[in-house]
Order: sequence, then structure tokens, then C-alpha cells
Amino acid sequence: AMYEVKRKGKNSYYIYDEEKGANLFLLNDLHNAIKKEELTVYYQPVIDVQTKDIVAMETLIRWQHPIYGIVPPNQFIPLAEETGLIVPIGEWIVKKACRQHEQWRKNGLKPIRIAVNVSVKELQDRHFAKRIEAILTETNTLPEWLELEITESIMVYNEATISDNLRRMKELGVRISIDDFGTGYSSLAYLKRLDVDTVKIDQSFISDCPHSYYGSVITNTIISLAHHLHMNVIAEGVEQFEQLLYLQEKGCQEAQGYFLSPPLSSDEATRLLQKGMCH
Ligand code: C2E
Ligand code: CA
Ligand code: CA
Ligand code: CA
Repeated sequence: AMYEVKRKGKNSYYIYDEEKGANLFLLNDLHNAIKKEELTVYYQPVIDVQTKDIVAMETLIRWQHPIYGIVPPNQFIPLAEETGLIVPIGEWIVKKACRQHEQWRKNGLKPIRIAVNVSVKELQDRHFAKRIEAILTETNTLPEWLELEITESIMVYNEATISDNLRRMKELGVRISIDDFGTGYSSLAYLKRLDVDTVKIDQSFISDCPHSYYGSVITNTIISLAHHLHMNVIAEGVEQFEQLLYLQEKGCQEAQGYFLSPPLSSDEATRLLQKGMCH
């Protein structure tokens, strides 16, 4: 066989992507995935560490493939990036996220931040900012409710289109968040240049907390850096109660992870928001 389909859980299969053939196979299907409404969005809550209130939802894409079941983003986002398909997919996600946010507000829920992951490829498109602006207007979403999660890897490109798009977003009031902070590009100058609002401490550091020296020191240092630069800080990948306690003690504002809540379907996320808290 050109590919190997692996089973993962009860109804979920995925393709083992060591062979190029598997990717080609998936790519054909990915072209049609939006049209056939196979892509869906999950929402993972971010909580205020002190109050446990939900302060944001991060959108995470899922592909419900008719044969393979749920294909995780790590398997198809790189393909979508290589082929440029990420541009229409990314636009679809922002629209979906903002419509969901509008729906929550119409249900009388207090507005929270909605975070969307954005690839370099999307920011290299010179129509990016214009499209986001149009979606915000169409869904009556205030720019400060939207947070774009980018990774440090964007900084190595140093392209005018990318910085223009990010500057237009900032001028509009859209928030910029640095995902997987501490794992990529090592210069910190961009924090100032881009006027970053939020840093997300990578889950590899959090999973080392509180027992490993390196993980804890790096976590403390990022929290302190964020405080001094007046940026919001989110700890990602919180899986244990003692990690949450540790973050509370160190003054980390926000946290996200399986211990608090896994990514949820739209219905599950709505029910949780009606409750307002994760515990
Ligand atoms: P990410 O943005 O760093 O998202 C965090 C990933 O960690 C998610 O995996 C999430 O389900 C998972 N996670 C959450 N809490 C925990 C935890 O406590 N422990 C552990 N071990 N994992 C946790 P997911 O949904 O499979 O997404 C993987 C990556 O795919 C994301 O990493 C992001 O880089 C990318 N991605 C997901 N959705 C999108 C999207 O809509 N657009 C783009 N461009 N990329 C996306
Ligand atoms: Ca993210
Ligand atoms: Ca991350
Ligand atoms: Ca990641």
C-alpha cells in the first residue's frame, strides 16, 4: 500500500505520513474538504488562573474525513501551507470563529477573546488584513475580541507584507499573541516592534513544572518578562493540578490545558460558557 491507515480511538483513523503517497492522497481530499463541510472548529477554553473564569477560547481546526475519521491538524496543516490552501482555510476559520462569537453574544453571554492560529503563509498574502477587517464588520465583532496567534518562526521571514498585515491588525485593535513562546527564534526585539499583547508559554516548559529546574526557571522568567513588558501571559498544556497551583503562586494570569478542559465542540463550548467556569 502507498499509505498506512492507523486506528486511533474508536472512530478515529489517521494516515501515517512517512510516505509521500499518503500526503498526495490526503491533498486531493483537502481541496474539497471546505466545500463538503468536512472541516470543523473546536474551542479550547483559556481561564483566569485566580478566578477560574473563562476569558478566551482558542479555535482549533479538525478534519472529519469520510474514510479516515478525524485527521489531526499536524497531519494536514503543513500540506495546506505548502500548497497555499491554508489561505482559504484560514479565512474560513476566522469567519467561523467570529460567527460563533456573535452567536454567543446573541445568547447573552459576556464577550470573551476568541483566538485563531495564523500561519506565515496567510500573512504573506497582501489581502489578509482587508479580509479580517471585512469579517469583523460582517459579524459585528470588536477587533479587541479577536486574538491572532502567530509563532516566532514568522520573525525569520522579515518580509514587508507580513509586517504590513500585522501593523494593520494592530492599528485596528486586533490582538497579537505569540504561540509556543520560547521554542523558536531567539531574538526578543520583535516583542516591542510588533507590540505583542500576549505570550503563550510553550507546553514543553509547563510539562516540566514544577519538578524540573529548567522548565520552572524558564516558566518563571517568561512570566516575569511578560509582567515587566505589560503583556498578558498564558500557560499552555496544563495537565496537572500542581502545575496550576504553581502558576497561581508565580502570578501567571491565564492557563489552558487538559486539566482545565480539552478542546470542545461548539455545543459543548456553549454549555461551558453558560456555566462560565471550568470547575
Ligand atoms: P497549538 O496552537 O500550539 O495548539 C495546542 C495543541 O495542544 C492543540 O493540538 C491542543 O489540542 C493541544 N493541547 C491542549 N491542551 C493540551 C494539554 O494539556 N496537553 C497536551 N499534550 N496537549 C494539549 P491540536 O488541536 O492537535 O493542534 C496542533 C497544532 O495545529 C496547533 O498547535 C496549531 O499549531 C495547529 N493548528 C490547529 N488549528 C489550526 C488552525 O486553525 N490554523 C492553523 N494555521 N494552525 C492550526
Ligand atoms: Ca495556538
Ligand atoms: Ca502552542
Ligand atoms: Ca504548537
